[in-house]
Amino acid sequence: MSFASDTVEALESGVFLANSELEPDTLETFEDLTEFYARFEFSGRPPGEGDLERVRAIRTPLRRLFSATRDEAVPLVNAILAEQHALPRLVRHDGRDWHIHGTSDDAPLHARILVETAMAMIDVIRADEMTRLDRCAMDDCEGVVLDMSRNRSRKYCSPTCTNRAAVHAYRARQAAED
Ligand SMILES: [Zn+2]
Ligand SMILES: [Zn+2]
Repeated sequence: MSFASDTVEALESGVFLANSELEPDTLETFEDLTEFYARFEFSGRPPGEGDLERVRAIRTPLRRLFSATRDEAVPLVNAILAEQHALPRLVRHDGRDWHIHGTSDDAPLHARILVETAMAMIDVIRADEMTRLDRCAMDDCEGVVLDMSRNRSRKYCSPTCTNRAAVHAYRARQAAED
């Protein structure tokens, strides 16, 4: 199963955003938001007054959506699309081939993120690929892992957790040898 590139991008930015609220919070300043906007190459109205608080506020709902079962995710997706008055259309811009935008380009950033994530989740749900989204394998981590790899090799939500897991495994081997 392969997903369209705009689906994958929306999931990547949504998961990144959802995980940013874990300690240490990585979306605390307007600069953090501007960096997030640039990193995931959002188009449309750039972040402005009030957007930081509104984007921060959708992180918990996004984490809930990504952590949901397939059947639990359906009403969450439908609610987002209804509340944000999603109106999908095909667009081509900035050298990018046809892809979907679900809101007008001047909709507030948090609304665009919500709708794009919800539309990406439509694909995931229809394809019955919810296992692409999982909880981080690190015991004490609530992070969301997005695994779009062919061999399903991703277990940890971040390089930090990957490194911590390696340290734990090393210590366990040392303890076994002693
Ligand atoms: Zn676009
Ligand atoms: Zn983690």
